[in-house]
Amino acid sequence: MCGIFGYVGKDNRAAQIVLEGLKTLEYRGYDSWGIASKIKNKQSLSLRDEKLKMKNSDKKNKFIVEKYIGKIENGISQLSPFSSQLVIGHTRWATHGGVTIANAHPHLDCTQKIAVVHNGIVENFEELREELIKKGHLFISETDTEVIPHLIEEYGKKQGFASSVRDAFNRLDGLNAIVAANSKSCEIIAAKTGSPLIIGIGENEFFIASDATGIIKHTRQVLFLKDLEMVILGKKLQLLSLPNGKKLTFKPEIIKWKTQDVSRGMYRHFMLKEIYEQPKAIRNITKNYGDQINHLVQIIEAAKGTFLIGAGTAFHACLAGTYLFSKIAHIHVNTAVASEFNYLEDFLNKKSLVIALSQSGETIDVVEPLKRAKEKGSKIIAITNVLGSTIYRMADYKMLLGAGPEKAVASTKAYVAKLVVLLMLSFKMVGKSKEIKAAMAKVADEVERLLEKENIEKIKKIASFLSSAVHIYSIGRGVSYSTALEAALKIKEVSYIHTEGLAGGELKHGTIALISKGTPCIVFTPNDQTHEAMISNATEIRSRGGVIIGISSKNSSVFDYWIEVRDIGEASVIPQIVPAQLLAYYLAVEKGYDPDKPRNLAKSVTVK
Ligand code: GLU
Repeated sequence: MCGIFGYVGKDNRAAQIVLEGLKTLEYRGYDSWGIASKIKNKQSLSLRDEKLKMKNSDKKNKFIVEKYIGKIENGISQLSPFSSQLVIGHTRWATHGGVTIANAHPHLDCTQKIAVVHNGIVENFEELREELIKKGHLFISETDTEVIPHLIEEYGKKQGFASSVRDAFNRLDGLNAIVAANSKSCEIIAAKTGSPLIIGIGENEFFIASDATGIIKHTRQVLFLKDLEMVILGKKLQLLSLPNGKKLTFKPEIIKWKTQDVSRGMYRHFMLKEIYEQPKAIRNITKNYGDQINHLVQIIEAAKGTFLIGAGTAFHACLAGTYLFSKIAHIHVNTAVASEFNYLEDFLNKKSLVIALSQSGETIDVVEPLKRAKEKGSKIIAITNVLGSTIYRMADYKMLLGAGPEKAVASTKAYVAKLVVLLMLSFKMVGKSKEIKAAMAKVADEVERLLEKENIEKIKKIASFLSSAVHIYSIGRGVSYSTALEAALKIKEVSYIHTEGLAGGELKHGTIALISKGTPCIVFTPNDQTHEAMISNATEIRSRGGVIIGISSKNSSVFDYWIEVRDIGEASVIPQIVPAQLLAYYLAVEKGYDPDKPRNLAKSVTVK
């Protein structure tokens, strides 16, 4: 998934600019990072030097590459104080090759005059690597990425840099975005078939990045690179078509949105802050989204076949949506995990509607099926939290979640915001706008109550009990099935305890075999038609020694621990996730983990 940031221009502080930019992109991956800088007349420090035993005289115009394992804040002081006007940087989320210095980006060609950072997977890298090794290229990493600079170098033996990058890029299979820098020509060239790249246009300087956040402090004039386009940044900007190399005209956009400088404030972690921001998000959407909801309802009503797609937490919101649309609006809506929708979408046609839910608006698993849906003429609604994101830009109709920037990798307030939108849509379809406003006011109050000290103390105690668990189970029926899945995901993500979410009725079809003395099970038992059956399921678990954590509006003798969530009818689906978010957070803290940056995860998932 990775974050990319590059600079070419007149400023000697390119390395610092890139580093600051990279810091804004760490949500995209943070296992390792690196920068390549063009520095005149300095000795190269790269790993390849030792292998190639290069003489100093060969070293003119070589990139200096500095790479570190871990998050950027841990390495910033180690950067060499070189001045440079051409730098590209990368923060990595490894796909191919372990988390090592050698595998961190940027990667170089044999001459060290071409540096490449990459987002994506080169699906045919093995074949390309073999071909290049036969031609004498030396590889020092295990990554798929390293074939790219060598391919460019190989093509460069017969032609210029731009044609070489184009020819090399066109040989890559898969969905990729690359930024290649040439120290000799002092140019950056970027090309993409997937993953976002945004170009910032300054005065005699250019920026390139995976998102606009780090760019807009330098310039608000930007160009969103489209798939199958290539851009050359040097003395000027040139845009080319990747398939035929022809020049393209372009019109930069002016980004008007404000950057929200987000800090943790009084909170120890972003995750906790974002959990506490939920009442505000609920009230904001309820107050300000009436017109947008009305518009979307018209589109949904006109469609013949509506599909909700999302990944991870967003998928759980989609699943909740199918229950809510059915129960409240009596409308059938299909749901699919976005990465599976590619294999399910053969029936899409011009009358179909695909509603994509995505916090980041960049998830490749969502972007890909949307592209295909568009090809089939289907309409797309994007419900996302990030203005200007890929999904936001490609949709026919869009709605911003308005939850405010979400920094913690584990999504909380964006999930709740999605549920608010889905509930509002469902109620609006049956003309119950007033009812939804009243219900949402109660929801915001109830979430606030759940965040009060007394409840937090209770949650901390339960988290302390759960912290020694190896397995936790989480069950619910109806719309609470989606809550059970989301609760399990939250706990897994930040506490690394294996937690499995299931439909209440499914447990006895296999998984109950794993329940033994002391196995904790979170049971969502709202005051709806699922209540009795859920109590029966809890009793079945308890009879086998399981410990029941009941999340319910009323206590039951079968609960070992009870977390009260007051009944607000169908809207109870919102407050009932809050205790699970808090349990996940306090479990991570109890176990000494950083809930904001869990291992192996990234906030924006831009590889397949
Ligand atoms: N496939 C490349 C790697 O593993 C890039 C991954 C990414 O997009 O961060 O290094």
